[in-house]
Amino acid sequence: MGRRRGEWPAEPEALPGPVVDNHTHLESISEVLEPGVADPGVAAQLQRAAALGVEAVVQIGCDLDSAEVSVRWAHEHPQLVAGVAIHPNEAVLHAGVREIAPDGLEPAPLPRHARSLDDAIARIAELARDERVRTVGETGLDFFRAGEQGRAVQRESFRVHIALAKELGLPMQIHDRDAHADVLDVLTRDGAPDVTVFHCFSGDAEMAAECARRGYYLSFAGPVTFGSADEVRAAAAVVPASQLLVETDAPYLTPAPHRGAPNAPYLLPITVRRLAEVRGDDLGALCRQLRETSRSLYGV
Ligand SMILES: [Zn+2]
Repeated sequence: MGRRRGEWPAEPEALPGPVVDNHTHLESISEVLEPGVADPGVAAQLQRAAALGVEAVVQIGCDLDSAEVSVRWAHEHPQLVAGVAIHPNEAVLHAGVREIAPDGLEPAPLPRHARSLDDAIARIAELARDERVRTVGETGLDFFRAGEQGRAVQRESFRVHIALAKELGLPMQIHDRDAHADVLDVLTRDGAPDVTVFHCFSGDAEMAAECARRGYYLSFAGPVTFGSADEVRAAAAVVPASQLLVETDAPYLTPAPHRGAPNAPYLLPITVRRLAEVRGDDLGALCRQLRETSRSLYGV
């Protein structure tokens, strides 16, 4: 999670038309703020975002606790729909694997991890049947944190989530960190759900073209604004407009020039503007296309 985040950035200019934040974690905002910085809460965050053109969000609950919260919020707020899954790093903890990550961070199991991985996914499968849940995600592979044992657990968990998305006819959102080839391999072997979305796409242009060829959707987040992210911008430029999505992944990945500050859906216009520049798209036309794609995938 990294260091705590300071003051909220100023509001960016509003978008010319409404879009949807494809992937956000509003329940995590309070966990990343420096002491003294207020979390305005989900209703205020949604209102602030809507005023700038971000009219709906897909709230991702990817552990047992946040999945329950996300489904509840989806019933309380018409502009929020939910995604539920066991994140690959969560799957490792439910399976009782304790590997030290390359950054030296030791996993710290929480009370929810006393439940077995099978049991945890069974609860996700129940929640996913709620009519306000519109995606299974985020699932996938995170090889940054996992060693050999953890990777095996993640692969099996990913496969069960793929089967669940297919069974329920829901879109699936994929988390892929340092695991591009393996994610594509699992999708090839098991067959991808009809709607497969790479959240916070982090591959290069070649992988983006391959994903597009397979009919997958690619969602871009704050990194398209980062100085060092030429590879991600090159990827964004080759995706057909109809397979493109945008997201904040808030409270993480705050777009430049606000890195180090907390992120929230109201900052999505910064990323959308940069995406339009990188692709040479008319901003209004890009917003209309993004809005239409989100509607067709998630019914928002
Ligand atoms: Zn996420």
